[in-house]
Amino acid sequence: MTFKQHKDSTEQSVENTAVALGLSRRGFLGGATHTAALGLLAGWLPAFRIAPASAQATCAVPPNFPSGISLYQQAYENWSGEIAVDSVWTCAPQTALDVLAIVNWAHDNGYKVRPRGRMRNWSPLLLPPGGACPANVVLVDTTQYLTAMSVNTGTSPKTITAQTGVTLDALMAYLESYGLGVTASPSMGDVTLGGVLATGTHGTAVKASGETGLPGKTFGSFSNLVLSLTAVVWDVANNRYALRTFQRSDPGCAALLMHLGRAFIVEATLQAGANQRLRCQTWVNIPAAELYAPPGSPGRTYSSYVQSTGRLTAIWFPFTSNPWVKVWTVAPNKPLFSREVTSPYPYSFTDLSPDIAAMAAQIITGNTALTPAFGKLQYDAVAAGVVTTFTYDLWGWSKNLLSYVKPNTLHITTNSYAVLLRRADIQRAVNEFTVYYQSRLAAYQLLGRYPINGPLEIRVTGLDTPADVAISGAPSPQLSPIRPRPDHPEWDVALWFDLVTIPGTPYADQFFAEVQQWMFSHFSGSYATVRPEWAKGWAFTSAGAWSDTTQLSSTIPDAFRAGQATGDNWDSARTTLNQLDPFRIFSVPLLDALLP
Ligand SMILES: Cc1cc2nc3c(=O)[nH]c(=O)nc-3n(C[C@H](O)[C@H](O)[C@H](O)COP(=O)(O)OP(=O)(O)OC[C@H]3O[C@@H](n4cnc5c(N)ncnc54)[C@H](O)[C@@H]3O)c2cc1C
Repeated sequence: MTFKQHKDSTEQSVENTAVALGLSRRGFLGGATHTAALGLLAGWLPAFRIAPASAQATCAVPPNFPSGISLYQQAYENWSGEIAVDSVWTCAPQTALDVLAIVNWAHDNGYKVRPRGRMRNWSPLLLPPGGACPANVVLVDTTQYLTAMSVNTGTSPKTITAQTGVTLDALMAYLESYGLGVTASPSMGDVTLGGVLATGTHGTAVKASGETGLPGKTFGSFSNLVLSLTAVVWDVANNRYALRTFQRSDPGCAALLMHLGRAFIVEATLQAGANQRLRCQTWVNIPAAELYAPPGSPGRTYSSYVQSTGRLTAIWFPFTSNPWVKVWTVAPNKPLFSREVTSPYPYSFTDLSPDIAAMAAQIITGNTALTPAFGKLQYDAVAAGVVTTFTYDLWGWSKNLLSYVKPNTLHITTNSYAVLLRRADIQRAVNEFTVYYQSRLAAYQLLGRYPINGPLEIRVTGLDTPADVAISGAPSPQLSPIRPRPDHPEWDVALWFDLVTIPGTPYADQFFAEVQQWMFSHFSGSYATVRPEWAKGWAFTSAGAWSDTTQLSSTIPDAFRAGQATGDNWDSARTTLNQLDPFRIFSVPLLDALLP
């Protein structure tokens, strides 16, 4: 079976699914966003392989590839389905030395090498969308073999050393078996450590009022847990790429801690702290008007939860009144009415259901006026789901409550920014953002336009501060969106504003571009600053994400230069990454534009 035949049969089965879900065959095929519908309804294309011996004529076999390392062609598709590329040469090294052999082979043969994790990323840091057989590119699948882990209990704090193909689900389960854990983690743990360190994965947590941080933990991103890492870097003396271990305080490490895919990390050692039991309560009856009220308002405001527990997310479906508020509390003992959970992902109602899939498919095939009903349907699914699954009040070890979205949820696309500001300004910022957001949604609605059909999620974290790191002289990741601003020490937290919609929704890009412009002008001066969330959509124009050349060439770099010391800023990171990979073996077109 060729890729074409395979894809045709996949499309046929998706089309059948769409019809079974209530769409007319004609309506489905006629939709402008047929491809997006494929991603939405089908999820992954089955990941079948073609060995070099049966490679398609159009795809030249990489010459002289190191023997003994599995090499094959495979379709690449990211989670949202927006990046789909057929027949990509992919390999599966078994050891760090295999990785090194691949990189040196790429150098000798004029190829690019891209480490590939679970392919969950939205931004095109691995491959640009479209086509087949990308020339002179080999993806390196780290997930098959590079998954070793070990915990060192003899250090203080304790540490975990892991190869970068390991998933966070596996890493956090392993930590748990040693009584260790993290303060916050992404909503989904089916992402690799390599992907997480490349893009700066975060969860939601700041210190509650009066809380003291635990040794080995951070309120920042996963990158801020790294004590050392091993990367493949250019060795000037030997004129070859080599494996090199960087301690956190070594020159160069600050650029590698979060590198956007401009490096290949094979292993990292992370500090770890004592595991905690958490209680997670869900609220679906707090009006948005109360949660996002102007600062100083009484009641169940966003900042009241920040003060009392430090840990919440608010997920607000469009055209509904009450966000889905999840509040975590550190709770060593089980509260009387909480239900204990012993595994992650307790919220089965977030899996894509047939009725949500059916209405989503109608929206992306043109019936966008269904959006308010779709918002209500999503809210109703949560409000009913937490009751029927008894998940409104849960308690257990941290990972079982921190991981709350499985990959089989509705496949969406997203724009997301971190806003650094004073903790005392959190309520002001969520109020101003939501007032603005509501007014723009209403203005679009008046024109019969519905760019946003998924939720607005607002989370809060600390910063990637060296104070959280167990060793002295630790630098903050130079490319972290939540890098502290030395000239604004009062900016001690970050709010993450994440807007979600189905890929291909009409006017979404225009809407995202407007929001971006508003954010950069509004969260500025002595009030706050904005930086992009690398994994998601940013640099929007109405033509799409990552297309705003002013953002790429100056606005974003300037956001990482502002307030930082010369020699320790955006430009330093760029210089370091270029020195460590002078042949740009680990680069992609987007990074060639952003970090030339
Ligand atoms: C449903 C869902 C929920 C999510 N929730 C959150 C969340 O709550 N918080 C959050 O911060 N993010 C979240 N993400 C984003 C996710 O954490 C990032 O996109 C992450 O990078 C994905 O990891 P991956 O293994 O899939 O990486 P991939 O998509 O495979 O790769 C992403 C980038 O990492 C690079 N990379 C991978 N391995 C290595 C390596 N060994 N060395 C160097 N570079 C490497 C790749 O080259 C590429 O540039 C979510 C994503 C999804 C789909």
